[in-house]
Amino acid sequence: MSGAPESGRRVRILPDRVANQIAAGEVVERPASVVKELVENSLDAGARSVRVELRNGGKTFIRVADDGEGMGRPDALLALDRHATSKIRTAEDLEGVVSFGFRGEALPSIAAVSRFELETAPLDGGPATRIRVTGGKIVSSEEIARRPGTTVTVRSLFQNVPARAKFLRAAGAETRAVSEAVLLLALSNLRAAFHLDSNGRELLSLPPADTPADRVADIWGPEDAGQMLGLDTEVDGVRVGGLIQRPDAARAAGGRRYLFINGRPFRDRQVVRAVDEAYRTTVAPGLRPGFLLYLRVGGGQVDVNVHPAKAEVRFSDPSRVQRAVEEAVRSRLGAVSSAPGLGAETAAAATDTALAGRPPRMRPGSAPRVAERSSGDGGTGSDTPEPPQLGFFVSRARDEAPADPRAPAGEEGVPPLGAANLAVRPHAWQLHDSYILVSTRDGLLIVDQHSAHERVLFEEIMEKFRGSGAESQRLLFPLTLRLSPAEFAAVEELAGLLRAVGFEVEAFGDRTVIIHAAPNPHPYFDAEACFRDMVAELTHGSDLVNSARNQHERIAKSMACKGAIKAGQPLSRSEMEELVDRLFATELPGHDVHGRPTILRLTMEELARRFGRS
Ligand code: ADP
Ligand code: MG
Repeated sequence: MSGAPESGRRVRILPDRVANQIAAGEVVERPASVVKELVENSLDAGARSVRVELRNGGKTFIRVADDGEGMGRPDALLALDRHATSKIRTAEDLEGVVSFGFRGEALPSIAAVSRFELETAPLDGGPATRIRVTGGKIVSSEEIARRPGTTVTVRSLFQNVPARAKFLRAAGAETRAVSEAVLLLALSNLRAAFHLDSNGRELLSLPPADTPADRVADIWGPEDAGQMLGLDTEVDGVRVGGLIQRPDAARAAGGRRYLFINGRPFRDRQVVRAVDEAYRTTVAPGLRPGFLLYLRVGGGQVDVNVHPAKAEVRFSDPSRVQRAVEEAVRSRLGAVSSAPGLGAETAAAATDTALAGRPPRMRPGSAPRVAERSSGDGGTGSDTPEPPQLGFFVSRARDEAPADPRAPAGEEGVPPLGAANLAVRPHAWQLHDSYILVSTRDGLLIVDQHSAHERVLFEEIMEKFRGSGAESQRLLFPLTLRLSPAEFAAVEELAGLLRAVGFEVEAFGDRTVIIHAAPNPHPYFDAEACFRDMVAELTHGSDLVNSARNQHERIAKSMACKGAIKAGQPLSRSEMEELVDRLFATELPGHDVHGRPTILRLTMEELARRFGRS
């Protein structure tokens, strides 16, 4: 305020050193954040190899050395000034910024709270420089000899700021945080090699990788990599690539979950939720499938400058991104090629097919349910067309009920055997009355008949809830069942929903119900056993039904599980074919409602490999 007496002046511009210490509070929280900033600088400088050394969790010593473009002397001195950056010039440049750094805060902030040393030499062979800074003050600057690239050494972090030093954790905890930071950077920058040493011991040594799968294999081993499915697709302008864990490999703990946007790691609960949503009907409750998703959106659609450590971002249209992620993951899970290979030793084979960075075999656009029925259908081996027979899944009371459009009423009624890589109308065999073997264009599918039918029923029942309700069959001799009081109460409460899935139930007396009509999902269906099992499960709960989001889903999951065709049930050839057709007409054919695989596959390549032909 002009006119205020000089002595009353309180507002002052902070000296640089103080400003830097305050900024350091935001950017530099612990050794891991120092390492992150320095490694990002190395990557921004085009380094192909980054080496990180720590002592004592980084509290006494951090060194980051790179083979990047380095700096000449004037730049090196300038780089230590606050807001000195070579990466942007104007505020507009912030849009679509591709480098990690751009605030020009990291080096001065780190130098303000440590004993700091910068050694750097430019690629063009110009002279090399060493600058030493203590507590934010340049104490020496000299010419040295070294190869191109930059080495930054940070000693005695926070020693001049005891208030911050107090918050540092034990060396082990700080080391773990550094490893995690380096891992994140390694996962987002595949082209560079990374090394991390702690107290002279090597913690990480990663060669450059071609694909996320290669990097995952180098970090966590080929078994982990073999559990992942590769995906690479674009939905509504959002590119979604990376790896997702196969549902049957998902565990309750330890699912590694990483998100990257335009090459940078970020956190976003909504996007994580979108992934979980995509897995919802394929994994059992409480499981956390892992994923590494690399998203790309156009410049201007994401703001990376909303968080001091850049850990969060802001999308201009978050729900579009969430929808794209959900759809991409869901359709990947639905693809046949998400079917696991055979046996443990096929981790490598699985890596071949799903992980080698090749696009998944089936693109979302060719998902089974939208694929066209091939015109040559009915070709293979059907010289003598089988006589039309009662459909496997058709209510026997079909005369009374309107025909289910998806029921196999002659040729047009058969759902497309869509999977692009299924051979035209394949032969099917049954193994031990439990598994259906189907020959495909590129090998063999083994379908678990119970799991497959479970998936089919689940989706049909959910569809019926949305639509007209299930057809049911009036029973000639109604079933009378005596239930426990709790079960009886549950049936009374759920009567409307049970009717919607085809069970017409009447309460009779205090603990007795009469079933007048029952669904007829297949010819071998045991209505009484299914009803009893379902009621018990719905009354007492189970992992399966507890995972459901609402009553509809509870009933659908339970009914699918209890009502599906069982293992050990002999099936005719047309029944097998119909079951496989139906499976591929579902949205998520690869997994049953427990998250177990419905299909295993054996490719011709794998066969050739095993017979030593490759
Ligand atoms: P920012 O990364 O936000 O630009 P920094 O304080 O981290 O700010 O770095 C300041 C400048 O120093 C960078 O813009 C870059 O020009 C230069 N620099 C920092 N580290 C390196 C490095 N390892 N190799 C080459 N140049 C570097
Ligand atoms: Mg930086």
